[in-house]
Amino acid sequence: MRLILVGPPGAGKGTQAGRLVEKYGIPQLSTGDMLRAAVAAKTPIGIKAKEVMDAGGLVSDEIVVGIIRDRIAEEDAQNGFILDGFPRTIAQAEALNEMLESNGLKLNGVLELRVDHSKLVDRIVKRAEDAKAAGQPVRKDDDPEVFKQRLEAYNRDTAVVVPFYEKTGLLSVIDGMQSIDEVTASVETILQGLDERV
Ligand code: AMP
Repeated sequence: MRLILVGPPGAGKGTQAGRLVEKYGIPQLSTGDMLRAAVAAKTPIGIKAKEVMDAGGLVSDEIVVGIIRDRIAEEDAQNGFILDGFPRTIAQAEALNEMLESNGLKLNGVLELRVDHSKLVDRIVKRAEDAKAAGQPVRKDDDPEVFKQRLEAYNRDTAVVVPFYEKTGLLSVIDGMQSIDEVTASVETILQGLDERV
């Protein structure tokens, strides 16, 4: 199964992707996680991406498309994957289509976690507090001011990805303001419908 989770930062994509990994045994491909790993390892990509990420902007399409191209060619992604945080622009969505088509592959579905943007800053503050309380590192870009930039980047560049997939008939919208378990239940219901169609 090849899925995309789309939604603004803090919508719960990472949480839901983690649950899908457990249930379906397919990997979560998070460009954010991959970029953070590259930054931590100080690779050439990490060095290039760090400043943009720290400011809440978008890393270039060329870099993220390259990362995803390499990642989906890996062994563990051959039976499917969950894309979390990619594609974030139309150019990335088009590049993904080309990548899949050239390998004779198709997407099964695109799930949008739709949330009230005015509640997201509170959510992200809570995410930072929870991480701190659990002794985990707090993401630098979860600072409220940087978070607002990330939200702006979503509205400016990424929101258009939703109608892009709506036109293809692949999009399902989920109310991301429900509890985490309720969102998971909604995701499951949609996936059951997808399984029958594929
Ligand atoms: P995330 O963990 O998905 O919130 O991503 C963290 C940061 O990584 C974003 O704010 C961007 O700077 C960068 N990033 C992650 N995925 C992408 C992408 N598909 N395109 C451009 N930048 C990305």
